[in-house]
Amino acid sequence: MNDLLDFDRAHLWHPYTSMVNPLPVYEVESATGVRLRLADGRELIDGMSSWWAAIHGYNHPALNAAVEKQLGKIAHVMFGGITHRPAVELAESLIKLTPEPLQRIFLADSGSVSVEVAIKMALQYWQARGQGAKNRLLTIRGGYHGDTFGAMAVCDPVSGMHHIFQDVLPQHFFAPRPACRFGEEWDEADLDDFRVLIEQHHKVLAAVIMEPVVQGAGGMYFYHPLYLAGVRALCDQYEVLLILDEIATGFGRSGTMFGCDHAAISPDIMCLGKALTGGYLTLAATLATAEVADTISSGDPGLFMHGPTFMANPLACAVACASLKLLHESPWQERVAAIATTLQRELAPCRDIATVADVRVLGAIGVVEMQDAVDVAVLQEQFVARGVWVRPFGRLIYVMPPYSIESADLVHLARAVVEVVQGIGTR
Ligand SMILES: *Cc1c(COP(=O)(O)O)cnc(C)c1O
Repeated sequence: MNDLLDFDRAHLWHPYTSMVNPLPVYEVESATGVRLRLADGRELIDGMSSWWAAIHGYNHPALNAAVEKQLGKIAHVMFGGITHRPAVELAESLIKLTPEPLQRIFLADSGSVSVEVAIKMALQYWQARGQGAKNRLLTIRGGYHGDTFGAMAVCDPVSGMHHIFQDVLPQHFFAPRPACRFGEEWDEADLDDFRVLIEQHHKVLAAVIMEPVVQGAGGMYFYHPLYLAGVRALCDQYEVLLILDEIATGFGRSGTMFGCDHAAISPDIMCLGKALTGGYLTLAATLATAEVADTISSGDPGLFMHGPTFMANPLACAVACASLKLLHESPWQERVAAIATTLQRELAPCRDIATVADVRVLGAIGVVEMQDAVDVAVLQEQFVARGVWVRPFGRLIYVMPPYSIESADLVHLARAVVEVVQGIGTR
């Protein structure tokens, strides 16, 4: 133990941790490409992209240059009454990249906040139309939308944090998690429960909110795109807005630019975050159709009621523009497809291990679901000993490396997963 780790242990909260009995942490000193360099000199192949974000890898010359160039001009300025080129250029790029109906953009400071913004937009939309009774949400179980209160209320009611905050969370409606998985045969009956709920409650529903095709932190689960297409049709039929949370799926991770592209549909409101800045700075965006934005703006009070201090931070916008350019100029579809092929092949041996419940791959995401919850601290240590960075949660051991990972590194990463999982099997 050194001073730095001791101080950290005594004073710093990490995500979802105890201050009394914290899990071990590793000091990262620098990172380049797909390698994290620890303070003790060891190098780890990054299997996490820092939670979906670092799609181009670390310390990228083009992203560094974008931040440095903007830093020489202005690091931050209020967005009230002021605009700047990085925000306008980012909006232009996002409008071009996302489905055509999405034309209005709110730049928020984190994924959770962009979900709050989306929910507020849906509520203000119906208020503006004189239908304020439409103020509840419908979602599917197994979702994750963030840690703030509005977002928490639509996270999975069991694996989310509902029981702790039950009395203060708004009550919404939950359909079962879709049973038809991505790549399996579609069964129309999968939508029955959802259809019943929207039929029964549409008069009080402002919006449906869900993650398209890939459910992330709620269970790393991939469901059938026709479920999503069916939800879009039901939302239209019953006049309910559709919010798609693309914070994890956006920017190519599942093999298409956005999760909704698998179903060839478009939402009324879309949330983006995580990989938006290539993992450099915190930034998110809530996009809306012109109809949603203009309705909000024509009703009472005629304004959209949100405006964070660091809205549209110029450094973040500048690096987001550079990240989108990199993505656009790279053969990302081929890279993601190649990662999928390698993960399918290399993780396959896990299927034969008795303690493994399921192995699944979609795009640049590989998941090994165990029968029982794993010991995160023990596994983390075993991964570090094998020269890779993988952070499991619950029963899930998963990898989602930067798209730029070389084949040999990816094979090393996947084999480390197989070895560690085998170790659990024989314990
Ligand atoms: C991570 C995530 C969020 C929350 O984003 P933060 O930036 O952590 O607030 C919301 N929705 C989804 C789908 C996510 O993966």
